[in-house]
Amino acid sequence: KAPASLLAPADLFGPRRKASKGFDLSDARVIETIEVACEGVIPDAAPITVSAATGTALTVTNPATGAAVAQVIEADAATVARALDDARVWDAPAAERAAVLRRAADLYEETFGQIFATLAAEAGKSWGDAVGELREACDFLRYYAAEGESSAAAPRGIIAAISPWNFPLAIFTGQISAALMAGNAVLAKPAEATPLIAAIAVRLLHAAGVPAAALQLLPGPGAVVGTAITSDPRVKGVVFTGSTATAQRIAAVMADTLEPGTPLIAETGGLNAMIVDSTALPEQAVRDIVASAFRSAGQRCSALRCLYVQEDIAPHLLAMVKGAMDELKLGDPRALVTDVGPVIDARAQAGILDYVAAREGAVLHRTAAPAEGTFVAPVMLKVSGIADLEREVFGPVLHVATFRAGEIGAVIEAVNARGYGLTFGLHSRIDARVQEVAEAIRVGNTYVNRNQIGAVVGSQPFGGEGLSGTGPKAGGPLYLARFFAPEPVAAPN
Ligand code: GLU
Repeated sequence: KAPASLLAPADLFGPRRKASKGFDLSDARVIETIEVACEGVIPDAAPITVSAATGTALTVTNPATGAAVAQVIEADAATVARALDDARVWDAPAAERAAVLRRAADLYEETFGQIFATLAAEAGKSWGDAVGELREACDFLRYYAAEGESSAAAPRGIIAAISPWNFPLAIFTGQISAALMAGNAVLAKPAEATPLIAAIAVRLLHAAGVPAAALQLLPGPGAVVGTAITSDPRVKGVVFTGSTATAQRIAAVMADTLEPGTPLIAETGGLNAMIVDSTALPEQAVRDIVASAFRSAGQRCSALRCLYVQEDIAPHLLAMVKGAMDELKLGDPRALVTDVGPVIDARAQAGILDYVAAREGAVLHRTAAPAEGTFVAPVMLKVSGIADLEREVFGPVLHVATFRAGEIGAVIEAVNARGYGLTFGLHSRIDARVQEVAEAIRVGNTYVNRNQIGAVVGSQPFGGEGLSGTGPKAGGPLYLARFFAPEPVAAPN
């Protein structure tokens, strides 16, 4: 239950409006500062560190409407320096830390209204995506609590956590909950586009019992905050989700400044493929192609980027994909009927639209997008294969290539040759082929006869190979261990 004070009439989303099925999704208000945003989430909770920050004010805007959502004081060098001085490892017993993280999960769930409203306003998340995101965040809290509650291992010290805007609650929470469960002190830098949901999460974690000195929030640009927290010798580990290029820059900075052997846990991009052979069930394949490519407006690192369809079924299957694309509803992320919300900001929108404009001759199909807001119409482009993809385009752009019977081996080789290895999808009803392809493809997550997004904590540990990340996989049994100090190794006699 969100406290009544948060449900004041809002101009954040324009006039109050009843959505279908009796839900009122317009309950939110104009949020002026992070502190104000958090006021009332948990009465009497200690203020979060950022409230004392010095730095520049940044306006966060709603991607669907352009309206101001929040003013955030971004941390400057002095604030980061103070946070490093103040950081203290969390020395409570593991069982107590686990209990606190579980309490935080309960508080997250109780605060669902505020969380959904903020995810929609700040990140353009559709209702369905917001539900999935809250679920995943709570799963991370409870999963790492269960994994670590009886561990006696020691923390590493200060961990820098740098998280992305596409899962501003789930990945933010996943990184810091693992680091905290291991007893570390965390300096958390949320993405610049989504500091507000991060502030709410930190407020809830503090209210659950995480000490303020063990978890400090440092919103701000990568060049200031990111660089400072990945280059101070007191930092003993970095966890990052974002682009491959940024991960490579962080690794270079760390190599120059931090103790040798300081771990970097990075989850980065992908050029993810799906193969649909002529034995696939078309209705099932089409549903999974559309979900994998266009859900979350294609803004998942797991999203399908290049679809390979066996030539003999391609005309029929692609006609069905076009029909399904036309059924997607783009619009206000708070409406229950919306399938696809806006992309994160005007810069992202322009980049995706420029990419498509330069390939106009290859457009196989494109739907329509609302004129207002940073929407991008889902589009399908013809390519000759994954080798034609220069880079990951983080939006609702699906590339399609065809292959002939007997060419699957060549397709797998081309996908492996790109060096990314995050997700892969296969639709086939030939068991021997499924076996063969799954063994040959070099990716972190292979999905058979289903969509390739939305890995579930605990049952589908998520993470890639090669340019897609370092591992260990998030939500898997090896992840937490990386946040503990290495065990001293007994010397052989
Ligand atoms: N874990 C998410 C999924 O399986 C993707 C995470 C990301 O986009 O960084 O869809």
